Amino acid sequence: MKRIQRLLLGALGGVFLQVSASAQSGPTVVLTFDDATLSQRTVVAPLLQRYGFGATFFVCEFPGFENKTQYMTWEQIRQLSDMGFEIGNHTRSHGAMSQQTPAQITEEIVYIEERCRQAGIPRPVTFAYPSYNYSAEGIAILQERGYRYARHGGDKPYVAGTDPWMVPSYAIHEKDNRTLDFLRLILDTMSARDTVVLCFHGVPDLAHDWVTTTPRHFKAMMKYLRRRDCRVIALRDL
Ligand SMILES: [Zn+2]
Repeated sequence: MKRIQRLLLGALGGVFLQVSASAQSGPTVVLTFDDATLSQRTVVAPLLQRYGFGATFFVCEFPGFENKTQYMTWEQIRQLSDMGFEIGNHTRSHGAMSQQTPAQITEEIVYIEERCRQAGIPRPVTFAYPSYNYSAEGIAILQERGYRYARHGGDKPYVAGTDPWMVPSYAIHEKDNRTLDFLRLILDTMSARDTVVLCFHGVPDLAHDWVTTTPRHFKAMMKYLRRRDCRVIALRDL
């Protein structure tokens, strides 16, 4: 009996190795998209799906959220979730966390959790600080509520095992030519054990042109990630 078990385990191990060997061997890249812009549903999601890439969409009800030529509906956000993407919490109104009381921070976070529940979206387990602004009180609230990671800015890679409440990211947008050449430089200079987290907004972003990325440049970047054989995942899958 022991021998059969060993043989079975050996065979399973062989299968596992084969699967691992065929998985992506390039750098790990986390894609994140902020502010629930409409183009994330219409342009970004179909392209990512074609490549089999994971991603996190950090949603909020930004001032102007009722303008549905610029922002997604909750139905469209649910569609992203149904497509297998992660929906993360970016607070209700995108205010500066360091200016808010613990009660206000909680209200901002719980509002998005409740909207997700109503829409049939899993409760968020990752968070992005609006405008990269945070506070110790806010981090304590996220911890209490069962969050696992919070994304910050900082333009540097995430080193595994370091502070999950300060996951750094690179802002990607047209301004300052933060497009394909910038991405290439990031991947060429990162160390093999690091993870790169990219922070996009709309593709294009019709509400905030200073963080926009054109569909043409976005497509070129996604194609490049595929060519580099990157493992492209959501933040929850870190
Ligand atoms: Zn934002």
